[in-house]
Amino acid sequence: MRYYSTNDQTLQATLEEAVLKGYADDGGLFLPDHIPVLPQAFVSNLHAMTLQEMSYAIADYAWQGDIDASVLHDIVMETLNFPIPLTYVGGNRFSLELYHGPTMSFKDVGTRFMGRVVSHFTSRRHQKINVLVTTSGNAGGAVANGFYAIPNVNVFILYPQDSLEPLQEAQFATLGGNVTALEVNGTLDDCREMVRDAFADKELNSEMHLTTARTINVARLLPQVFYYFYAYAQLADREQDLDNVVFAVPCGNLGNLTAGIMAKKMGLPVKRFIAADNRNNVFTQYLETGDFMPQQSIPSVAPAMDIGDPQNFPQLKSLLHSHMEMCELIEGVAYNDEQIMNAIKHAWHDEHYLLDPQSATAYQALLDCLHEGETGVALATAHPAKYRNTVEQAIGKAVHVPGTLASFLGGTRHVTTLGSGYNALKQFLLKHNAQQ
Ligand SMILES: *Cc1c(COP(=O)(O)O)cnc(C)c1O
Repeated sequence: MRYYSTNDQTLQATLEEAVLKGYADDGGLFLPDHIPVLPQAFVSNLHAMTLQEMSYAIADYAWQGDIDASVLHDIVMETLNFPIPLTYVGGNRFSLELYHGPTMSFKDVGTRFMGRVVSHFTSRRHQKINVLVTTSGNAGGAVANGFYAIPNVNVFILYPQDSLEPLQEAQFATLGGNVTALEVNGTLDDCREMVRDAFADKELNSEMHLTTARTINVARLLPQVFYYFYAYAQLADREQDLDNVVFAVPCGNLGNLTAGIMAKKMGLPVKRFIAADNRNNVFTQYLETGDFMPQQSIPSVAPAMDIGDPQNFPQLKSLLHSHMEMCELIEGVAYNDEQIMNAIKHAWHDEHYLLDPQSATAYQALLDCLHEGETGVALATAHPAKYRNTVEQAIGKAVHVPGTLASFLGGTRHVTTLGSGYNALKQFLLKHNAQQ
Protein backbone atom coordinates (compact mmCIF):
# COMPACT_ATOMS: atom_id res chain seq x y z
CA MET A 1 0.00 0.00 0.00
CA ARG A 2 1.20 3.53 -0.80
CA TYR A 3 0.44 6.57 1.33
CA TYR A 4 -0.10 9.96 -0.25
CA SER A 5 0.25 13.45 1.18
CA THR A 6 -3.00 15.37 1.64
CA ASN A 7 -1.18 18.37 0.09
CA ASP A 8 -0.08 16.53 -3.03
CA GLN A 9 -1.44 13.17 -4.19
CA THR A 10 1.70 12.47 -6.18
CA LEU A 11 3.98 12.66 -3.14
CA GLN A 12 3.93 9.06 -1.92
CA ALA A 13 5.47 7.01 0.88
CA THR A 14 5.55 3.47 2.20
CA LEU A 15 3.79 2.54 5.45
CA GLU A 16 7.14 2.58 7.23
CA GLU A 17 7.95 6.10 6.01
CA ALA A 18 4.46 7.37 6.78
CA VAL A 19 4.59 5.99 10.34
CA LEU A 20 8.11 7.15 11.16
CA LYS A 21 7.78 10.59 9.59
CA GLY A 22 4.25 11.43 10.72
CA TYR A 23 4.12 14.39 8.35
CA ALA A 24 4.91 14.31 4.63
CA ASP A 25 7.84 16.39 3.42
CA ASP A 26 5.46 19.03 2.10
CA GLY A 27 3.79 19.34 5.52
CA GLY A 28 0.72 17.33 4.46
CA LEU A 29 -0.72 14.34 6.29
CA PHE A 30 -0.61 10.79 5.03
CA LEU A 31 -3.54 8.66 3.91
CA PRO A 32 -3.61 5.26 2.17
CA ASP A 33 -4.00 5.66 -1.60
CA HIS A 34 -6.98 3.34 -1.54
CA ILE A 35 -9.10 1.94 1.26
CA PRO A 36 -9.80 -1.77 0.85
CA VAL A 37 -13.43 -2.76 1.43
CA LEU A 38 -13.90 -5.80 3.66
CA PRO A 39 -16.00 -8.64 2.23
CA GLN A 40 -19.70 -8.54 3.12
CA ALA A 41 -19.34 -11.99 4.71
CA PHE A 42 -16.82 -10.56 7.17
CA VAL A 43 -19.25 -7.86 8.28
CA SER A 44 -22.13 -10.33 8.66
CA ASN A 45 -19.93 -12.54 10.79
CA LEU A 46 -18.58 -9.85 13.14
CA HIS A 47 -20.76 -10.92 16.07
CA ALA A 48 -18.97 -14.29 16.13
CA MET A 49 -15.50 -12.72 16.58
CA THR A 50 -13.66 -11.36 19.60
CA LEU A 51 -12.32 -7.80 19.60
CA GLN A 52 -8.80 -9.12 19.00
CA GLU A 53 -9.84 -11.45 16.18
CA MET A 54 -11.72 -8.78 14.25
CA SER A 55 -8.99 -6.19 14.89
CA TYR A 56 -6.30 -8.44 13.52
CA ALA A 57 -8.39 -9.27 10.45
CA ILE A 58 -9.09 -5.57 9.79
CA ALA A 59 -5.44 -4.59 10.31
CA ASP A 60 -4.18 -7.32 8.01
CA TYR A 61 -6.68 -6.31 5.37
CA ALA A 62 -5.90 -2.60 5.66
CA TRP A 63 -2.12 -2.93 5.65
CA GLN A 64 -1.95 -5.69 3.06
CA GLY A 65 1.24 -7.39 4.16
CA ASP A 66 3.25 -4.20 4.84
CA ILE A 67 3.89 -5.67 8.29
CA ASP A 68 4.54 -9.36 8.65
CA ALA A 69 1.32 -11.19 9.66
CA SER A 70 2.75 -12.74 12.83
CA VAL A 71 4.21 -9.41 14.00
CA LEU A 72 0.91 -7.65 13.33
CA HIS A 73 -0.92 -10.38 15.19
CA ASP A 74 1.26 -9.88 18.29
CA ILE A 75 0.84 -6.11 18.12
CA VAL A 76 -2.95 -6.43 18.04
CA MET A 77 -2.98 -8.95 20.91
CA GLU A 78 -0.79 -6.74 23.11
CA THR A 79 -2.60 -3.52 22.27
CA LEU A 80 -6.24 -4.55 22.64
CA ASN A 81 -5.95 -6.45 25.87
CA PHE A 82 -8.64 -4.54 27.75
CA PRO A 83 -12.41 -4.60 27.35
CA ILE A 84 -14.33 -2.06 25.21
CA PRO A 85 -17.90 -2.72 26.32
CA LEU A 86 -21.00 -1.31 24.68
CA THR A 87 -23.32 -0.28 27.51
CA TYR A 88 -27.03 0.30 27.07
CA VAL A 89 -27.96 3.69 28.53
CA GLY A 90 -31.60 4.44 27.64
CA GLY A 91 -34.06 4.77 24.75
CA ASN A 92 -32.20 3.71 21.61
CA ARG A 93 -28.88 4.98 22.99
CA PHE A 94 -25.70 3.07 23.77
CA SER A 95 -22.30 4.11 25.08
CA LEU A 96 -19.07 2.58 23.77
CA GLU A 97 -16.72 2.71 26.77
CA LEU A 98 -13.26 3.23 25.33
CA TYR A 99 -11.68 4.07 28.68
CA HIS A 100 -10.81 0.77 30.31
CA GLY A 101 -7.14 0.85 29.23
CA PRO A 102 -4.07 1.74 31.34
CA THR A 103 -4.58 5.54 31.38
CA MET A 104 -8.36 5.36 31.10
CA SER A 105 -8.84 7.37 27.93
CA PHE A 106 -9.53 6.16 24.39
CA LYS A 107 -6.09 7.44 23.40
CA ASP A 108 -4.63 4.25 24.89
CA VAL A 109 -5.91 2.32 21.85
CA GLY A 110 -4.07 4.43 19.28
CA THR A 111 -0.87 5.08 21.21
CA ARG A 112 -0.31 1.48 22.34
CA PHE A 113 -0.69 0.24 18.79
CA MET A 114 1.49 2.97 17.33
CA GLY A 115 4.24 2.41 19.94
CA ARG A 116 4.62 -1.20 18.89
CA VAL A 117 4.50 -0.46 15.18
CA VAL A 118 7.19 2.23 15.55
CA SER A 119 9.36 -0.14 17.55
CA HIS A 120 8.99 -2.82 14.88
CA PHE A 121 10.21 -0.48 12.14
CA THR A 122 13.03 1.10 14.14
CA SER A 123 14.43 -2.23 15.34
CA ARG A 124 14.58 -3.42 11.75
CA ARG A 125 16.67 -0.34 10.96
CA HIS A 126 18.79 -0.70 14.13
CA GLN A 127 17.83 2.84 14.87
CA LYS A 128 16.71 4.70 17.94
CA ILE A 129 13.83 7.08 17.58
CA ASN A 130 12.87 10.01 19.80
CA VAL A 131 9.24 10.94 20.20
CA LEU A 132 8.50 14.55 21.15
CA VAL A 133 5.00 15.47 22.29
CA THR A 134 3.30 18.32 24.08
CA THR A 135 0.31 17.72 26.29
CA SER A 136 -2.46 19.59 28.00
CA GLY A 137 -3.87 16.41 29.58
CA ASN A 138 -4.70 12.95 28.27
CA ALA A 139 -2.27 12.66 25.37
CA GLY A 140 0.83 12.77 27.59
CA GLY A 141 -0.27 9.87 29.75
CA ALA A 142 -1.49 7.80 26.82
CA VAL A 143 1.63 8.32 24.68
CA ALA A 144 3.96 7.71 27.65
CA ASN A 145 2.21 4.48 28.64
CA GLY A 146 1.79 3.40 25.03
CA PHE A 147 5.53 3.75 24.38
CA TYR A 148 6.80 2.87 27.88
CA ALA A 149 9.56 0.24 27.91
CA ILE A 150 9.29 -0.16 24.12
CA PRO A 151 12.76 -0.95 22.74
CA ASN A 152 14.58 1.66 20.59
CA VAL A 153 12.19 4.47 21.51
CA ASN A 154 12.63 7.46 23.84
CA VAL A 155 9.70 9.67 24.71
CA PHE A 156 9.85 13.32 25.79
CA ILE A 157 6.67 14.95 27.07
CA LEU A 158 6.59 18.75 27.25
CA TYR A 159 3.93 20.58 29.22
CA PRO A 160 3.50 23.94 30.94
CA GLN A 161 4.61 23.93 34.56
CA ASP A 162 1.75 23.77 37.10
CA SER A 163 -0.87 23.37 34.38
CA LEU A 164 -1.94 19.75 34.83
CA GLU A 165 -4.02 17.94 37.40
CA PRO A 166 -1.63 15.90 39.61
CA LEU A 167 -3.26 12.72 38.32
CA GLN A 168 -2.68 13.67 34.67
CA GLU A 169 0.95 14.50 35.33
CA ALA A 170 1.49 11.34 37.38
CA GLN A 171 0.40 9.20 34.43
CA PHE A 172 3.61 10.03 32.59
CA ALA A 173 5.90 11.64 35.18
CA THR A 174 6.11 8.56 37.44
CA LEU A 175 7.17 6.09 34.75
CA GLY A 176 10.89 6.83 34.33
CA GLY A 177 12.79 4.48 31.99
CA ASN A 178 12.46 5.66 28.40
CA VAL A 179 9.90 8.35 29.32
CA THR A 180 11.15 11.84 30.23
CA ALA A 181 8.78 14.46 31.63
CA LEU A 182 9.80 18.04 30.82
CA GLU A 183 7.86 20.78 32.54
CA VAL A 184 8.38 24.06 30.77
CA ASN A 185 8.44 27.41 32.45
CA GLY A 186 5.97 28.80 29.90
CA THR A 187 2.65 28.24 28.17
CA LEU A 188 1.34 25.35 26.03
CA ASP A 189 2.02 27.49 22.97
CA ASP A 190 5.66 27.89 24.11
CA CYS A 191 5.90 24.09 24.37
CA ARG A 192 4.44 23.64 20.89
CA GLU A 193 6.84 26.18 19.45
CA MET A 194 9.82 24.44 21.07
CA VAL A 195 8.77 21.13 19.50
CA ARG A 196 8.17 22.78 16.13
CA ASP A 197 11.65 24.34 16.25
CA ALA A 198 13.17 20.96 17.11
CA PHE A 199 11.65 19.39 14.00
CA ALA A 200 12.89 22.26 11.87
CA ASP A 201 16.45 22.03 13.27
CA LYS A 202 18.56 20.13 10.69
CA GLU A 203 21.55 19.83 13.01
CA LEU A 204 19.49 18.23 15.79
CA ASN A 205 17.72 15.93 13.35
CA SER A 206 21.00 14.64 11.99
CA GLU A 207 22.04 13.71 15.56
CA MET A 208 18.72 12.31 16.70
CA HIS A 209 15.84 10.78 14.75
CA LEU A 210 12.78 12.76 15.90
CA THR A 211 9.11 11.99 15.38
CA THR A 212 5.72 12.90 16.82
CA ALA A 213 3.08 10.53 18.13
CA ARG A 214 0.26 12.78 17.09
CA THR A 215 -3.24 11.75 16.26
CA ILE A 216 -2.59 12.27 12.52
CA ASN A 217 -0.24 9.27 12.36
CA VAL A 218 -1.66 6.44 10.25
CA ALA A 219 -0.55 3.97 12.96
CA ARG A 220 -2.77 5.75 15.47
CA LEU A 221 -5.74 6.00 13.12
CA LEU A 222 -5.97 2.34 12.11
CA PRO A 223 -6.52 0.89 15.61
CA GLN A 224 -9.30 3.41 16.16
CA VAL A 225 -11.11 1.85 13.22
CA PHE A 226 -11.31 -1.47 15.08
CA TYR A 227 -13.64 -0.33 17.82
CA TYR A 228 -16.26 1.04 15.44
CA PHE A 229 -16.54 -2.50 14.05
CA TYR A 230 -16.60 -3.89 17.56
CA ALA A 231 -19.46 -1.57 18.58
CA TYR A 232 -21.43 -2.78 15.57
CA ALA A 233 -20.67 -6.41 16.48
CA GLN A 234 -22.00 -5.81 19.98
CA LEU A 235 -25.18 -4.26 18.59
CA ALA A 236 -25.58 -7.35 16.37
CA ASP A 237 -25.11 -9.52 19.42
CA ARG A 238 -27.99 -7.70 21.10
CA GLU A 239 -30.13 -8.14 18.01
CA GLN A 240 -30.47 -4.41 17.47
CA ASP A 241 -31.60 -2.97 14.16
CA LEU A 242 -28.38 -2.68 12.16
CA ASP A 243 -29.66 -0.62 9.24
CA ASN A 244 -29.69 2.73 10.97
CA VAL A 245 -26.62 2.86 13.19
CA VAL A 246 -25.42 6.35 14.10
CA PHE A 247 -22.18 7.20 15.93
CA ALA A 248 -21.80 10.36 18.02
CA VAL A 249 -18.19 11.45 18.50
CA PRO A 250 -16.75 14.07 20.90
CA CYS A 251 -14.35 16.04 18.70
CA GLY A 252 -11.01 17.73 19.33
CA ASN A 253 -8.41 17.13 16.64
CA LEU A 254 -10.95 14.96 14.75
CA GLY A 255 -8.81 11.81 14.84
CA ASN A 256 -11.60 9.72 16.28
CA LEU A 257 -14.11 10.94 13.70
CA THR A 258 -11.59 10.39 10.87
CA ALA A 259 -11.19 6.77 12.01
CA GLY A 260 -14.98 6.37 12.00
CA ILE A 261 -15.14 7.57 8.40
CA MET A 262 -12.38 5.11 7.51
CA ALA A 263 -14.40 2.32 9.15
CA LYS A 264 -17.38 3.24 6.99
CA LYS A 265 -15.19 3.31 3.87
CA MET A 266 -13.92 -0.16 4.79
CA GLY A 267 -17.48 -1.42 4.64
CA LEU A 268 -18.98 -0.90 8.09
CA PRO A 269 -22.66 -0.09 7.53
CA VAL A 270 -22.88 3.19 9.44
CA LYS A 271 -25.82 5.40 8.47
CA ARG A 272 -24.29 8.66 9.64
CA PHE A 273 -22.15 10.40 12.27
CA ILE A 274 -22.82 13.21 14.70
CA ALA A 275 -19.82 15.39 15.57
CA ALA A 276 -20.02 17.08 18.97
CA ASP A 277 -17.93 20.16 19.75
CA ASN A 278 -17.62 22.26 22.86
CA ARG A 279 -17.23 26.06 22.62
CA ASN A 280 -14.29 25.40 20.31
CA ASN A 281 -16.61 24.87 17.38
CA VAL A 282 -14.34 25.32 14.37
CA PHE A 283 -15.46 22.02 12.85
CA THR A 284 -19.20 22.36 13.44
CA GLN A 285 -18.94 25.90 12.06
CA TYR A 286 -17.26 24.46 8.99
CA LEU A 287 -20.16 22.06 8.50
CA GLU A 288 -22.57 24.96 8.74
CA THR A 289 -20.73 27.46 6.53
CA GLY A 290 -18.22 25.56 4.39
CA ASP A 291 -15.40 27.77 5.70
CA PHE A 292 -12.68 26.20 7.80
CA MET A 293 -11.42 28.93 10.09
CA PRO A 294 -8.94 27.86 12.79
CA GLN A 295 -8.98 29.97 15.95
CA GLN A 296 -7.22 30.33 19.27
CA SER A 297 -8.53 27.67 21.62
CA ILE A 298 -10.80 28.75 24.47
CA PRO A 299 -10.74 26.89 27.82
CA SER A 300 -13.88 24.87 28.58
CA VAL A 301 -15.14 22.24 31.04
CA ALA A 302 -14.30 19.57 28.42
CA PRO A 303 -10.60 20.46 28.00
CA ALA A 304 -9.60 17.50 25.80
CA MET A 305 -11.75 19.12 23.10
CA ASP A 306 -10.26 22.61 23.49
CA ILE A 307 -8.71 22.62 20.04
CA GLY A 308 -8.86 25.70 17.83
CA ASP A 309 -7.10 24.15 14.85
CA PRO A 310 -8.17 20.49 14.44
CA GLN A 311 -5.11 18.65 13.14
CA ASN A 312 -6.85 15.75 11.37
CA PHE A 313 -9.10 18.01 9.30
CA PRO A 314 -7.07 17.63 6.06
CA GLN A 315 -7.46 13.84 6.27
CA LEU A 316 -11.20 14.08 6.85
CA LYS A 317 -11.52 16.50 3.92
CA SER A 318 -9.48 14.24 1.65
CA LEU A 319 -11.53 11.16 2.57
CA LEU A 320 -14.84 12.90 1.96
CA HIS A 321 -13.83 15.08 -1.00
CA SER A 322 -16.32 17.94 -0.64
CA HIS A 323 -18.17 19.99 1.93
CA MET A 324 -21.41 18.61 0.55
CA GLU A 325 -20.37 15.00 0.93
CA MET A 326 -19.21 15.75 4.45
CA CYS A 327 -22.54 17.32 5.38
CA GLU A 328 -24.46 14.33 4.01
CA LEU A 329 -22.63 12.03 6.37
CA ILE A 330 -21.88 14.20 9.40
CA GLU A 331 -24.20 16.38 11.44
CA GLY A 332 -22.56 18.88 13.81
CA VAL A 333 -23.66 20.17 17.19
CA ALA A 334 -21.78 22.34 19.72
CA TYR A 335 -22.36 22.79 23.45
CA ASN A 336 -21.32 25.50 25.87
CA ASP A 337 -20.07 24.78 29.39
CA GLU A 338 -23.47 25.06 31.01
CA GLN A 339 -24.98 22.62 28.53
CA ILE A 340 -22.14 20.16 29.13
CA MET A 341 -22.59 20.36 32.91
CA ASN A 342 -26.34 19.77 32.44
CA ALA A 343 -25.66 16.84 30.13
CA ILE A 344 -23.53 15.13 32.82
CA LYS A 345 -26.16 15.86 35.44
CA HIS A 346 -29.11 14.59 33.42
CA ALA A 347 -27.42 11.41 32.22
CA TRP A 348 -26.70 10.66 35.86
CA HIS A 349 -30.12 11.57 37.25
CA ASP A 350 -32.26 10.23 34.40
CA GLU A 351 -30.31 7.13 33.36
CA HIS A 352 -27.95 6.58 36.26
CA TYR A 353 -25.04 6.70 33.82
CA LEU A 354 -21.89 8.62 34.68
CA LEU A 355 -20.06 10.49 31.90
CA ASP A 356 -16.91 12.61 31.73
CA PRO A 357 -17.40 16.09 30.22
CA GLN A 358 -16.14 15.11 26.73
CA SER A 359 -18.29 11.99 26.47
CA ALA A 360 -21.26 13.96 27.79
CA THR A 361 -21.21 16.11 24.64
CA ALA A 362 -21.54 13.01 22.45
CA TYR A 363 -24.27 11.52 24.59
CA GLN A 364 -26.19 14.80 24.60
CA ALA A 365 -25.81 14.90 20.82
CA LEU A 366 -27.65 11.56 20.62
CA LEU A 367 -30.44 12.91 22.81
CA ASP A 368 -30.76 16.00 20.62
CA CYS A 369 -30.13 14.68 17.11
CA LEU A 370 -31.06 10.99 16.89
CA HIS A 371 -34.10 10.35 14.68
CA GLU A 372 -36.91 7.88 15.22
CA GLY A 373 -35.80 4.41 14.14
CA GLU A 374 -32.06 5.10 14.49
CA THR A 375 -29.79 3.30 16.94
CA GLY A 376 -27.23 5.62 18.51
CA VAL A 377 -23.77 4.84 19.86
CA ALA A 378 -21.98 7.63 21.74
CA LEU A 379 -18.22 7.21 22.06
CA ALA A 380 -17.18 7.52 25.71
CA THR A 381 -13.58 8.71 25.52
CA ALA A 382 -12.46 9.06 29.16
CA HIS A 383 -13.31 7.62 32.54
CA PRO A 384 -15.40 10.14 34.52
CA ALA A 385 -12.90 9.99 37.43
CA LYS A 386 -10.26 11.62 35.19
CA TYR A 387 -12.41 14.76 35.38
CA ARG A 388 -13.45 14.24 38.95
CA ASN A 389 -13.87 17.88 40.03
CA THR A 390 -16.05 18.81 37.08
CA VAL A 391 -18.15 15.66 37.31
CA GLU A 392 -18.64 15.99 41.08
CA GLN A 393 -19.72 19.57 40.59
CA ALA A 394 -22.24 18.50 37.96
CA ILE A 395 -23.83 15.64 39.90
CA GLY A 396 -23.35 16.96 43.46
CA LYS A 397 -21.89 13.67 44.65
CA ALA A 398 -18.45 12.12 45.17
CA VAL A 399 -16.93 10.15 42.28
CA HIS A 400 -15.03 6.96 43.01
CA VAL A 401 -11.46 6.88 41.63
CA PRO A 402 -10.58 3.40 40.32
CA GLY A 403 -7.35 1.74 41.45
CA THR A 404 -5.84 2.00 37.95
CA LEU A 405 -5.84 5.78 38.25
CA ALA A 406 -5.10 6.05 41.96
CA SER A 407 -2.00 3.84 41.65
CA PHE A 408 -0.23 6.41 39.44
CA LEU A 409 -0.44 8.92 42.28
CA GLY A 410 1.55 6.62 44.54
CA GLY A 411 4.60 6.64 42.22
CA THR A 412 7.71 8.81 42.47
CA ARG A 413 7.69 11.91 40.28
CA HIS A 414 10.68 12.31 37.90
CA VAL A 415 10.46 15.70 36.25
CA THR A 416 13.04 18.01 34.65
CA THR A 417 12.25 21.71 34.53
CA LEU A 418 13.20 23.59 31.38
CA GLY A 419 13.21 27.30 30.66
CA SER A 420 10.99 28.26 27.76
CA GLY A 421 12.67 28.82 24.41
CA TYR A 422 14.05 26.30 21.98
CA ASN A 423 17.66 26.45 23.12
CA ALA A 424 16.87 24.92 26.51
CA LEU A 425 15.18 21.96 24.81
CA LYS A 426 17.96 21.49 22.29
CA GLN A 427 20.70 21.44 24.93
CA PHE A 428 18.70 18.98 27.01
CA LEU A 429 18.06 16.61 24.10
CA LEU A 430 21.68 16.63 22.90
CA LYS A 431 22.96 15.92 26.40
CA HIS A 432 20.40 13.16 26.93
CA ASN A 433 21.32 11.63 23.58
CA ALA A 434 25.05 11.69 24.37
CA GLN A 435 24.43 9.80 27.60
CA GLN A 436 22.51 6.97 25.89
C1 LIG B 1 -8.30 13.53 22.81
C2 LIG B 1 -9.68 13.44 23.37
C3 LIG B 1 -10.83 13.78 22.61
C4 LIG B 1 -10.74 14.33 21.20
O1 LIG B 1 -10.46 13.32 20.28
P1 LIG B 1 -9.93 13.67 18.81
O2 LIG B 1 -9.57 12.38 18.21
O3 LIG B 1 -8.74 14.58 19.01
O4 LIG B 1 -11.02 14.38 18.10
C5 LIG B 1 -12.08 13.60 23.17
N1 LIG B 1 -12.20 13.14 24.44
C6 LIG B 1 -11.14 12.82 25.20
C7 LIG B 1 -11.36 12.34 26.58
C8 LIG B 1 -9.83 12.96 24.70
O5 LIG B 1 -8.79 12.66 25.47
